[in-house]
Amino acid sequence: MTTTAALVGGGPACAGTDTETWFSTVPADQVVCLRICADCPVREACLAGALARDEQWGIWGGRIFTPRFVTAAVDDVAGRWMVRGLTRDGVQLGRGWFKRREDAEALLVELMADSADRARCAETAPGWRKGPHWFTDADAA
Ligand code: SF4
Repeated sequence: MTTTAALVGGGPACAGTDTETWFSTVPADQVVCLRICADCPVREACLAGALARDEQWGIWGGRIFTPRFVTAAVDDVAGRWMVRGLTRDGVQLGRGWFKRREDAEALLVELMADSADRARCAETAPGWRKGPHWFTDADAA
């Protein structure tokens, strides 16, 4: 999503795309948006702006926003795919590593679908560290 701060740094990657897609709750749409953000040259400014404005919905700076939670997108870290669950004020709820980007993205959208409510998210976070396809931090090192 284009922000004033983002425009200062030049070319947001989402320029010219359908704005409604960036507020979609359809997982396939969200994954497309997250991949666009991943290559966006103004990603950090976009995220900072969205947090400063206290955005409640949409995808900004490579993260999916919900009213109470914001979850980090999938990041390529040393050849593994990392997903982190974060509260809006930056507290990490959980983190996991995947071999395949598709698996990481699937978990991310699943987590966000469950995380509109704080209690449900708190219950979910411990569990999604234990899935059969998760790696520990030590595995990823
Ligand atoms: S980070 Fe994503 S939402 Fe923000 S300007 Fe770039 S492409 Fe648009």
